[in-house]
Amino acid sequence: MNAPPAPHPDAEQRSRSPTSDPPGLASRDFTAVDEFDDYTAARATFGSLAELVRLLRPYWRGFGWLAPLVLLLGLIASLAEGAGVGVIFVLLTTLLRGGGGSGGSAAAGIGGGDLIDGGPLDRVLGHLASITGGSIPLLIALVILFALVRMASVMAHNVATTLVEARILHSVRRALFRSYLEMPFEALKNRSYGDMLGILNQHSWRVAEATDALANMMLSGTIALILGAILFFLSPAILLVALAATLSLPFALRSIERSAEQAGVASAAAARQVSARAMHMLQAMRTVRAFGRTRAQAAAFDRDSAELARASIRIDLLASIADPANQLAYLAMLGLIAAAAIHQHMPLELVLAAVALLYRIQPHASTLENERLRIAGMLGPIRAVDELVRLAGKDAPAGLPLPIGAGVIQFEAVDFAYPGQPHPTLRQASFTIAPGEWTLIQGVSGAGKSTIVNLLLRFFTPARGRIVVDGVPLDRIDIDAWRSRIAVSGQDVELIEGTIADNIALGRPDASPQEIARVVDQVGLAAIVATLEFGLETRIGERGLNLSGGQRQRVGIARALLVEPDLLILDEATSALDAASDALIFAAVERAMAGKTVVLVGHRLTPDLPIASIVVLDPVATPNAAQARAA
Ligand code: ADP
Repeated sequence: MNAPPAPHPDAEQRSRSPTSDPPGLASRDFTAVDEFDDYTAARATFGSLAELVRLLRPYWRGFGWLAPLVLLLGLIASLAEGAGVGVIFVLLTTLLRGGGGSGGSAAAGIGGGDLIDGGPLDRVLGHLASITGGSIPLLIALVILFALVRMASVMAHNVATTLVEARILHSVRRALFRSYLEMPFEALKNRSYGDMLGILNQHSWRVAEATDALANMMLSGTIALILGAILFFLSPAILLVALAATLSLPFALRSIERSAEQAGVASAAAARQVSARAMHMLQAMRTVRAFGRTRAQAAAFDRDSAELARASIRIDLLASIADPANQLAYLAMLGLIAAAAIHQHMPLELVLAAVALLYRIQPHASTLENERLRIAGMLGPIRAVDELVRLAGKDAPAGLPLPIGAGVIQFEAVDFAYPGQPHPTLRQASFTIAPGEWTLIQGVSGAGKSTIVNLLLRFFTPARGRIVVDGVPLDRIDIDAWRSRIAVSGQDVELIEGTIADNIALGRPDASPQEIARVVDQVGLAAIVATLEFGLETRIGERGLNLSGGQRQRVGIARALLVEPDLLILDEATSALDAASDALIFAAVERAMAGKTVVLVGHRLTPDLPIASIVVLDPVATPNAAQARAA
């Protein structure tokens, strides 16, 4: 037996002040909490497109080619569109002037300077007219050709963005899931699982949609810009009027944009509330029914769902304002252009050409505005995704490989307080868990027994002092390597939707049926399984509704034994079993763990168990201090 270590000199310390935190245990020591505060402060300053780009950029890695491609396609589409409008213009002029057969006079008319007085566009159009010779079939064919090129480039844009969108969605989901796996438990405390599911299933889409919206804005922006440049050659005065009308629109719609953003946040919150409500009901299905709460739950769900419907309608209605607002701005612009044309005595053909161009620019300006409002509604959900994703990796930084040694675990003057708890749970806890032996951790309820398990599994880290494995601080060891050597089973066994075999093989999905059958036998489940129609393949239902408390605990122990751990932690793992079953299971554990380390928590001390040392957490005699003594 490993000689129990001497208690740490401070272990006898009795000063458990109910009001004072030891230094270093204040909440500022917990970075995850700080993260949230920083985030809330930063949140208020978000809102611009630049911020959106900053939020989305991590998901665009590998898609750098998309931006130039979208620009190129936008360029091709706008040139094709501009050329198309030019050809239509030549075609109309030719038709109006009664050309068609000979064409020469019409061409000469267009290029002859009576339109824009020898401007570059006039020369281009004149050139176009002379190339085509004013042939109407040729002009029609060109109109069709340019329309096809424009359509093809818009289609290529849609295909590219759809492909990228799907892959971005995939990477957002991956990032979120990883973050759920790795985020500190402390960060989980104030979150509901329903909320997290809602963000994974619904909000993740917004990141991909926002990328799509930005790509659409880029495409439409490029086209509008180039058509605007053509308009400049046609008539700078008309361009000025058009610009003034177009640019005033976002200002006019500012409050609508802000409302859309608020509606987006409200809708995101409502969607998460619906998921959370559903999740709560599924988690407590038995209790909800047993307490006669079904009608109340249904009514609460109806309220949440109706709230979500209202928020969604609000977003759509606000976004739909963009189009009519654009049409109105367009009409106002036409009025202004007409006034300017009359005032400036502009030639009718020039005004018509400008209006034709503006007519082509208008849908793109409308898209820009539409997408801006859409994006405003997506900011809330995207912030929620960002907030969660930024918690990834905090729990499991890469560390040193596991030391090759016997596996001596030492708690050295460990202080620990849960964030937000006024009193430390452990103070100056010092003891050794000897390799290859059984250590029992005892103490009254709330003394901190499970906290020691949490620290051993590195779900939390000590505020002061350290835990050392074979001389290496636990917080420097690679966390996956460390945890893969440990198996734990507790009073409450987490079960997953699936079969009995799925649940037992959770820690080792590659286990053979024979290996699973062996542990099932060891924990005394074999007889029960034999009576089931589908044996180990019987579904246990979500949260193990089909299993008794004792059977769930047997599944938990079988799961732990299957991974053949070097360190087995049993935290009140047989509390729901009778004494005879308990003895049988411990006999099996003894055989399976021969020569390996076992930590028992709060187990009643039976003389049959080969316990080598006992760690006593005694809040009455030695508040917050752990000591070890010989069994
Ligand atoms: P035991 O296992 O000995 O019954 P625990 O280690 O579970 O005791 O809990 C010790 C103390 O820490 C209790 O006062 C408990 O309320 C508190 N505690 C346990 N887990 C958390 C947590 N995640 N956050 C805050 N306080 C906690």
